[in-house]
Amino acid sequence: MKAKFKNGEYIAPVVPIGYKINPAEKNRLVVDEETKWIVEKIFALAAHGYGANKICRTLAAEKVPIPAWWASQKNGYKTNIFEGQPEGKKYLWNIVTVSKILQNEIYLGNTVHYQIQKLSYKSKKNIKRPKEDWMRIENTHEPLVDRETWDLVQGHINSRKRSRKDDEPQIFAGLLKCGECGWSLSAANTKNKSRYYRCTQYSAHGKEACSLHFITYNLLYAFVLGRLQYWLMAVKENEDAILERLLQSSKKQRKSENARDEKELKKAQKRRQELNNLFAKMYEDRVKGLLDEENYSMLSVKYRTEQQQLDEIIKTVSARLEDAKAETDDAKQWVDLIQKYSAIDELTALF
Ligand SMILES: [Zn+2]
Repeated sequence: MKAKFKNGEYIAPVVPIGYKINPAEKNRLVVDEETKWIVEKIFALAAHGYGANKICRTLAAEKVPIPAWWASQKNGYKTNIFEGQPEGKKYLWNIVTVSKILQNEIYLGNTVHYQIQKLSYKSKKNIKRPKEDWMRIENTHEPLVDRETWDLVQGHINSRKRSRKDDEPQIFAGLLKCGECGWSLSAANTKNKSRYYRCTQYSAHGKEACSLHFITYNLLYAFVLGRLQYWLMAVKENEDAILERLLQSSKKQRKSENARDEKELKKAQKRRQELNNLFAKMYEDRVKGLLDEENYSMLSVKYRTEQQQLDEIIKTVSARLEDAKAETDDAKQWVDLIQKYSAIDELTALF
């Protein structure tokens, strides 16, 4: 566990849950008696055939704190992420964390090097090397899992992966947009048949048009499910606070915008009325012979143009005010909708 420096600042190494760094030997892991039971429990549940999702729910129900919380307590790692958050965040396990624990050979007592490789010496991007190329040093520290349990769990994981791939539904179809260019993302498969989504503008027009933005199905699935579970938990704990939070980000700004819009709308409507009166008076003057033909047409054109401009302003500003109102309704509807679920265990297609 090498310590890391970022911008010259020391960052405490993130030690896998269940272990701590031996104070006498900086690079050696020793079992952390305070947290090792969590790792053992996760492997035991997995060995009994629990999937990552069911494991998450079990841990949350039993109020087992997540690794990030332990790290924040023990090493002061990112303590701010728990500040002002609902209590439930401490127990909010996600399937990525659990899957990573279940597949981390560190719990077998091995240290694995070269899992990650730099894309090139110039690039900061890292890519994952194929498993065959990893360098494995066995028995570098005390294992938390025995070989038998490990193999059993890996078997379960692999059979789950296969069955999921066979009937992977198109649950994200039409819902994904490229963050850079705004085009939609379309599904594609890698050589080994795992699904990912990439920018359609990039796939159609190459790197001149956009860059290779892509996301794997598994990562996206885990992230979306995790976010929904988080929001459901948060809404259940305090509905009003969440509604407030959803609205607040744009609220202040919108408040002054709304006031300005309403003022502008009123002014335009008032002037519109004045023009109507002017037209009526002009017509009367023309009839009475107080206004000659030439002046009458000139003024008509002038007022007609102003009238059209005002109509346009009234239309745009009214629509904007309507939208702002709809945004509040949307947030309310969303909070109502998510509350209809008692738990969110999987994502399914809308149709
Ligand atoms: Zn793009």
